[in-house]
Amino acid sequence: MAITDSAPAPNFIHHIIDEDLKIHKNDGRVITRFPPEPNGYLHIGHAKSICLNFGLAADYHGVCNLRFDDTNPSKEEMEYVESIMADVRWLGFDWEDRLFFASDYFEPLYDYALHLIKTGKAYVCDLSPEQVREYRGTLTAPGADSPFRQRSVPENLDLFKRMRAGEFADGSRTLRAKIDMASPNLNMRDPVLYRIKPESHHRTGDAWCIYPMYDYAHPLSDALEGITHSICTMEYEDHRVLYDWALDHCPVPCHPQQIEFARLNLSYTVMSKRKLLQLVNEGHVAGWDDPRMPTLAGMRRRGYTPEAIRAFCERIGVGKRENLVDLALLEFCVREDLNYRAPRVMGVLRPLKVVLLNYPEDRVEEIEAVNNPEDLTQGARKAPFSRVLYIEREDFMEDPPKKFYRLAPGREVRLRYAYFIRCEAVVKDPLTGEVVELRCTYDPATRGGHAPDGRRVKATLHWVSAAQAVSAEVRLYDRLFTQAVPGEEHGGDFQADLNPASLQVLTSCRLEPSLAGALPGSFYQFERQGYFCVDQKDSAPGAPVFNRTVTLKDPWARLQQAQKK
Ligand code: ATP
Ligand code: MG
Repeated sequence: MAITDSAPAPNFIHHIIDEDLKIHKNDGRVITRFPPEPNGYLHIGHAKSICLNFGLAADYHGVCNLRFDDTNPSKEEMEYVESIMADVRWLGFDWEDRLFFASDYFEPLYDYALHLIKTGKAYVCDLSPEQVREYRGTLTAPGADSPFRQRSVPENLDLFKRMRAGEFADGSRTLRAKIDMASPNLNMRDPVLYRIKPESHHRTGDAWCIYPMYDYAHPLSDALEGITHSICTMEYEDHRVLYDWALDHCPVPCHPQQIEFARLNLSYTVMSKRKLLQLVNEGHVAGWDDPRMPTLAGMRRRGYTPEAIRAFCERIGVGKRENLVDLALLEFCVREDLNYRAPRVMGVLRPLKVVLLNYPEDRVEEIEAVNNPEDLTQGARKAPFSRVLYIEREDFMEDPPKKFYRLAPGREVRLRYAYFIRCEAVVKDPLTGEVVELRCTYDPATRGGHAPDGRRVKATLHWVSAAQAVSAEVRLYDRLFTQAVPGEEHGGDFQADLNPASLQVLTSCRLEPSLAGALPGSFYQFERQGYFCVDQKDSAPGAPVFNRTVTLKDPWARLQQAQKK
């Protein structure tokens, strides 16, 4: 059964199913399916469909099948099948023993085609693909009948069987439905049902050289599985009459109902598998699971949790109107989830050395630090404190502007959980003039971060003790595209909007020693820097690589507050 995090708000599909149940349609059963084509990795748009299909099944004590829609042999690969199964499981859903492949139905689909031929509803057409297009007509002009439309049933049966036997060249013939070349709906103008494609299939091998088209295979596959509600995205609305036509004219066991919903569009993201494949193949990203990709594999590596993605899918809801969802909402959901679960640690991304002039050379103190102020049951840990520390380079300015409250010459700040320190002197590289070290003093009376005399500081900085620090590589990610709708201003050339600064690799980060044994996949909040997770692929024992999942700045919450005012 699916994991449901909370009672979901009912959507329009719930209302349809409620009505169906009232009249005891489908004997009161609810059976849905998630039907990916194994020609790419799943992305966040698919997550919406997965949550919807598995979620509805769970809501109505029904079931949801996983069916690979593998009717096109050219683009499909086992790698994709395996990644898709892993991703659906990771999201928290279980198809139990209901794993299906449309290719398992090639034999019954062929028999249904024979039935259509015998009943005069399909014919073998010898027009070339270009001619088929010419005969089809346009949105304003009706099409013309194929010269092969009146072939006799015996001739059609003979030719179709010979198509299967491999007697004809690739593309030389098709099997077409005999519907209406003047239909205002172009999908109904004798659509192609089968094409010749002498290619090996990832599951059926060389058993077939004809392959069924999606619009034919899909409704029949649904019916063979006893699907009650076949949920798809809006672009299939115009195909629904064809979906129903196939079911009405074949001797199928049941007639599923197609219901369309609006797909997810996310800002600063592309979601077409063709475009994602292009990003991978052309090396703009390091693979399908690059943490900048909108794929579930990429998001998992980035540190997004299944809980956050499911909460996001719940929040965006299900409707019929297409819109563009703000990426900031997804990031908000990630923060909301990690806030309660991620332990706080201190990590310095761009280290600047600090020497405490009045701190004994060989002393090391254990400072107590709270693991999660949002959840005190997560306890506390000890962080070593000593004479030589690192702070964040950007937390110091030699000549600070008005609103900079952090460390500067002569100024005092708090080191988180530890002491107040004051900057006494600045050491510079004699050649470049770059600040390389700060000479500071600490006030022993401020242990724990509070001054007994009530004196205040305006900033609290994170820090690590130099001698015990763990060195790590940290990867900072930004949006993959600079524009909300990539390519919109460039005639669709989405690559023109690739963000050249989407990845920044920092190789000399210093982290508190509690992170020495951090396990791949575990997540943390680096105080003041964001949520990070240990990369599952590139980390080695003793040499962790951290990915920044998301920063702490929350433009979404700020936007919501501004709207309330
Ligand atoms: P593409 O057209 O880029 O190849 P697709 O949408 O056809 O992708 P499929 O593998 O056929 O990819 O999709 C499987 C299921 O996921 C379909 O039911 C489809 O409607 C749904 N789906 C795909 N993209 C989205 C999206 N952005 N939002 C919601 N559902 C989606
Ligand atoms: Mg598709």
